[in-house]
Amino acid sequence: MPPRRDADFMDVDSDSDVSLPEDVRGKGKGKAKAGRKKDKGKGKAKDTQPYTWEASYTRSWETVQEDEAGSLQSAVEDWLARGRRKRLLNPATPIRRTIIRHLMLLLDLSSAMLDRDMRPTRFDLTLQYAREFVAEWFDQNPLGQIGVVGMRAGVGERVGEMSGNPQEVLGYLKERHKLEPTGDPSLQNAIEMARSSMSHLPTHSSREIVIIYGSLTTCDPGNIHETLETCMKDRIRISVVALAAEMKVCREMCDKTGGHFAVAMNEGHFKDVLFELVPPPAQHASAPRIISNSAGTGTGSTPADLIMMGFPTRLPDASPPSLCVCHSDLRSDGFLCPRCLAKVCDVPTDCDICGLMIVSSPHLARSYHHLFPVKQYEAVMSVEADAALACHACARPFPTAISATVTDGLSPWARYQCPECKQDYCSDCDIFVHDVIHCCPGCGK
Ligand SMILES: [Zn+2]
Ligand SMILES: [Zn+2]
Ligand SMILES: [Zn+2]
Ligand SMILES: [Zn+2]
Repeated sequence: MPPRRDADFMDVDSDSDVSLPEDVRGKGKGKAKAGRKKDKGKGKAKDTQPYTWEASYTRSWETVQEDEAGSLQSAVEDWLARGRRKRLLNPATPIRRTIIRHLMLLLDLSSAMLDRDMRPTRFDLTLQYAREFVAEWFDQNPLGQIGVVGMRAGVGERVGEMSGNPQEVLGYLKERHKLEPTGDPSLQNAIEMARSSMSHLPTHSSREIVIIYGSLTTCDPGNIHETLETCMKDRIRISVVALAAEMKVCREMCDKTGGHFAVAMNEGHFKDVLFELVPPPAQHASAPRIISNSAGTGTGSTPADLIMMGFPTRLPDASPPSLCVCHSDLRSDGFLCPRCLAKVCDVPTDCDICGLMIVSSPHLARSYHHLFPVKQYEAVMSVEADAALACHACARPFPTAISATVTDGLSPWARYQCPECKQDYCSDCDIFVHDVIHCCPGCGK
């Protein structure tokens, strides 16, 4: 925290401890401005704001533009159109993606994370977004597993083992007091730690490292480029979300391993770039395959591999308690491996005894939509006489009058048609079908 002198307390960056009597604040600009005159040089641009912290709040209500009639309809339409255009950028043809994902989340826990350029601090915001990211990630990738590694005091620190249970991973990130930032981060140590915990994985699963990095330095024991080489050899994909600025080594790691690199500009952008890592990545087309030693599925060529999966038997809650093979806990509920009849606590997982991948069918079904996305609906530009009167999905009647202002990409009739079943849907259902249920209610595709 910067030392505080009384003369320029108005400009203190860490504002939380600045409190003024209510009458000064209430009477507002006149008095506060007079107080600011002393430090003109620093805050010219924010002259209308008595306190520096006010500048850090984006006034979202001011960015919304009303139209002439005072309605917000056009603003809402703009927002819808942007969403549609973004979705249209997605490839329409099915591409091969890795749906069995393994991801290590590397969190910077160095003292740079105490910086307040993102509110409340980089650290708190990172924890909050990491939790949201994990929840969303498991929702979209139910067959995946996440582990967490922290970087602080020059070492990599295992925060949580790789797990397919979202509650367990969220539990790692909930204990804020255990993650208190301190010291310098070490990229190399943390990446090596993440790499070693993924080295046993079979080739059909993806190995990914996502780094949230707030520092501009790294404190490594050896040559980080050697670590990068081994990561490339192990086909680990590294993605970095930087909170401060671009570091060359981070950019290089992402470029060479096929990951994403992004610098977060503000809180909202931070969330956007982090959540871009949620959908499964496309598989490398011509990447060399490493012969897998565990399951023998590696073939050295690109054709699809068959992998063995088992559907477990769920034990009723009232069954007699027995030890699970994963934690050696005595519990009555759990799942039985179909091959070796070992008892595990959660699915999806790999059986600790025989190594069989144990999944439940809903997990498989929920991963499927990434491979065969629902076709984009087309905006209906002209309506024929015999067109349906109501949305095929929610049965809400369509507007009968054409909307006056039409944003590019939106239908003036608020109708969107499925290219397969030729049914019309409203804009709400269009979004719901493509973002949530991933299945067209008309044709089931
Ligand atoms: Zn267990
Ligand atoms: Zn087994
Ligand atoms: Zn509808
Ligand atoms: Zn359809």
